[in-house]
Amino acid sequence: MSLTFEPTADNPERLAIRDAVRAICDRFDDEYWREKDDTASFPYEFSQAIAEGGWLGIAMPEEYGGANLGVTEAAIMMQTIGSSAGVFAACSTVHINIFGPHAIVVHGSEEQKARFLPPLIAGTERACFGVTEPDAGLDTTKLSTRAVRDGDHYVIDGRKIWTSTAQQADKILLLTRTTPIEDCKKPTDGLTLFYTDLDRNFIEVREIHKMGRSAVNSNAVFIDGLRVSADDRIGEEGKGFRYILDSLNPERILNAAETIGIGRRALSKATQYAKDRVVFGRPIGKNQSIQHPLAENWSELYAAELMTLHAAALYDSGAPCGPEANAAKYLAADASFKACDQAVRTHGGMGYAREYDVERYFREVVATRLAPVSRELILCHIAERVLGLPKSY
Ligand SMILES: Cc1cc2nc3c(=O)[nH]c(=O)nc-3n(C[C@H](O)[C@H](O)[C@H](O)COP(=O)(O)OP(=O)(O)OC[C@H]3O[C@@H](n4cnc5c(N)ncnc54)[C@H](O)[C@@H]3O)c2cc1C
Repeated sequence: MSLTFEPTADNPERLAIRDAVRAICDRFDDEYWREKDDTASFPYEFSQAIAEGGWLGIAMPEEYGGANLGVTEAAIMMQTIGSSAGVFAACSTVHINIFGPHAIVVHGSEEQKARFLPPLIAGTERACFGVTEPDAGLDTTKLSTRAVRDGDHYVIDGRKIWTSTAQQADKILLLTRTTPIEDCKKPTDGLTLFYTDLDRNFIEVREIHKMGRSAVNSNAVFIDGLRVSADDRIGEEGKGFRYILDSLNPERILNAAETIGIGRRALSKATQYAKDRVVFGRPIGKNQSIQHPLAENWSELYAAELMTLHAAALYDSGAPCGPEANAAKYLAADASFKACDQAVRTHGGMGYAREYDVERYFREVVATRLAPVSRELILCHIAERVLGLPKSY
């Protein structure tokens, strides 16, 4: 029965990852996360425990302190975290360290990798991801944060929104425009990527009050005259959009894995409640209207997991995996949303009570259908790139 709620891990090394990560997560129960959610306080203890276990560098190069494992192993780790009591908040605490540095790993210089990666892997530095802007939304090429060259520096002005963990972050991965869009051959040209200090003298961070995942903040970020050394530019000027695109597939895969974890946790709570709760003289789980949706959740989550593992295997073998990674993200978010909704309904009135935690899972899973890319944009991508239909965005 281990397939029911655990991440599927098909070899001893992957099983060992799952068990070791689970052992850390088990130290932080629902009560811990409920309190963090209620008080909107960052889970430093959890974050430190994951860092101390050496897990932040799971997919980073060995020469900088990482384990150099694949996206498959990272997905198993993140799914395990997603299925713990911390669900999406726990994942978001460490997510950026796992996937965020990908652009640095692939496009950074040796000097930059030696400077930036070890503190991220050790967990002594936190990073945040500054891509989304209020006036651009999903149309990233329309972002208006400007970086203007000034000798061996750039001066950056602009606004980012939804930047997660910016309250704690020491560093920010920042996508900016260096050449006005009207002077570029393609809208995707002229964007430049920086990884630099989040200098609070020139960056104001304002928290957004949101529906869930309150333990991990998201923010509006105001950048005003930030001077950044050209040494902090990742790769070539004008190619930042391509660098970000490179990391999209592994991010989709990890995000799918996290989301499946959340759905599995909700399903396991609902199943237990369906066995324990007696109404009309029998466990509510004896009613098909209770048990069938749960069986459906199990099937859909498993199917999403297999798509996720398939996309991860393609990525790790160097094969193209855009449609599979996108489909995995889409299927995982929908399956998990349904599972969390069903978990609330299975608990009846108690599903609405904080004490039973499924309402927290539900509030957190909502974000997985919106970010980092919405289900609509995924469908647009598959319609165009796989089915050959006209581009609609
Ligand atoms: C909890 C949370 C954490 C986040 N963390 C970060 C972070 O750390 N860093 C960061 O940079 N960003 C972050 N984001 C931002 C996230 O990536 C964006 O919210 C997401 O990309 C959607 O952009 P938007 O909100 O501007 O939606 P919009 O672009 O305004 O879209 C609104 C709606 O319209 C739909 N839509 C738009 N255009 C089309 C079209 N052509 N066809 C069909 N439908 C369309 C969208 O699918 C969506 O449903 C976070 C968001 C959330 C909610």
